[in-house]
Amino acid sequence: MSTITASEEQRVVDAAPKQLYIGGEWRDGSHGTLSVEDPSTGESLCEVADASPEDAIAALDAAVAAGPEWAQHPPRERGEILRRAFEEIARRADELALLMTLEMGKPLKESKAEITYAAEFLRWFAEEAVRIDGRYAVAPNGQGRLLTMKQPVGPCLLITPWNFPLAMGTRKVGPAIAAGCTMVVKPAQQTPLSMLMLAKILEEAGLPGGVLNLVTSHSSGATMGPLIADPRLRKLSFTGSTEVGRKLMEQASDNLLRLSMELGGNAPFIVFDDADLDAAVQGALIAKMRNIGEACTAANRFYVSDRVAGEFAQRLAEKIGAMKVGRGTEDDVEVGPLIDASQRGKVSELVQDALGKGARALVGGTERDGAGYFFDPTVLTDVPDDANLLTEEIFGPVAPVRGFDDEDEAVAAANDTEYGLVAYVFTRDVKRALRVAERLETGMVGLNQGMVSNPAAPFGGIKQSGFGREGGREGIDEYLETKYVAVNL
Ligand code: NAP
Repeated sequence: MSTITASEEQRVVDAAPKQLYIGGEWRDGSHGTLSVEDPSTGESLCEVADASPEDAIAALDAAVAAGPEWAQHPPRERGEILRRAFEEIARRADELALLMTLEMGKPLKESKAEITYAAEFLRWFAEEAVRIDGRYAVAPNGQGRLLTMKQPVGPCLLITPWNFPLAMGTRKVGPAIAAGCTMVVKPAQQTPLSMLMLAKILEEAGLPGGVLNLVTSHSSGATMGPLIADPRLRKLSFTGSTEVGRKLMEQASDNLLRLSMELGGNAPFIVFDDADLDAAVQGALIAKMRNIGEACTAANRFYVSDRVAGEFAQRLAEKIGAMKVGRGTEDDVEVGPLIDASQRGKVSELVQDALGKGARALVGGTERDGAGYFFDPTVLTDVPDDANLLTEEIFGPVAPVRGFDDEDEAVAAANDTEYGLVAYVFTRDVKRALRVAERLETGMVGLNQGMVSNPAAPFGGIKQSGFGREGGREGIDEYLETKYVAVNL
């Protein structure tokens, strides 16, 4: 039974801005509006502004105009604005979580967790704003002095995906504001409402007009192209698929833009025979089922020692099979719908491909009938080498389990992918844990835990999962240039 009423839902949707935010003003999009859908019903929630390429350039104009003052703005005040926004998000967490669930589909509890995670980036970077420094050194020959200073890179374009509608934004907006950069933000068209609320909250927190500009658009390529080609833009930070990331890198090469690329993943989840199996199953549930499996960090392939693989798969199937699937606003729902028909179609295709090649479904394996884009939580065993889901990002609630014989085989299988975002390792042997963590070709490793995301840690990948780090002490460096001054004494 739903605990949220339709009028409560309507109230949070109504409260979200629907226009473009440019130069401190809310204005209509020149291309009319685009519809935002509830993925659990397939029905439209509301319309938001649809920007034209000219609107996007106007947003860049505003960011460029606000740039010099913002770069000089006292770091403490930049931090205080972020801090106020952090507090406001925490205060309005319930309302923001409901809005997120409506546009993205994840269960309310998970939306609430994302709101906290997202807000923490603002708190973290509020604190980092006043820690930007340089260094002073005596030249090796003792004659001159070497001075370095860090300065904001300038106007940035921040493009974010739909799977974490707020956190993928604050992870970029927080350090950009702290560093003294101005920006144009473009959220995914499926989930613009959470970011529109963030713009409003930052406005209310005292962020000067033009520092953050937000455009929503139904044709991101056409709208963003001219902006990326504009020589006034200095940086592009992108979170999304590797495929789009490659295209954007190509476009960014004309102006040699500074780039941060947070791209797709294909995370291996390795369980050794000495692991605490309870902890491994629990970790697997988080690594696989968080965000309905629609996370770049989602465990995509489970490699389990042959000695415990059968038991692990069985226990995982029991837990996953017992998870309640439904609309994210309903009580006790743990698995919401996938984002849209095309995403569900892709997950279905990958599962059918594996089953067709000999895999066995211990649980799930099928789409749900009726409204919304639901897919049954699935555990597959006997997954053959050539199953496409071992090489492609699944982005859904599907766990393929394979056995392995020894450590070398597990590491080789884990590294056998073009991606390199995160890997998970479960073992009680500390030496093995560190040895394997060193050998894994990923930017992050979860040791005996199924989640690595933490605003205080550097999040990011290697290989075709991209480059650059978000969060942690490293996060702000993505928005700073180092200038060296040679001092003749
Ligand atoms: P996507 O299709 O690559 O889209 C990401 C963003 O890029 C959206 O805002 C999208 O706008 C925009 N976009 C698409 N084509 C564009 C173009 N030609 N020019 C400019 N912008 C363009 O990815 P998604 O499906 O939203 O997100 C899922 C992907 O994100 C997965 O691969 C996941 O692994 C990855 N991801 C990575 C991380 C990480 O930190 N590494 C975190 C979260 C997600 P529209 O949707 O409005 O077209």
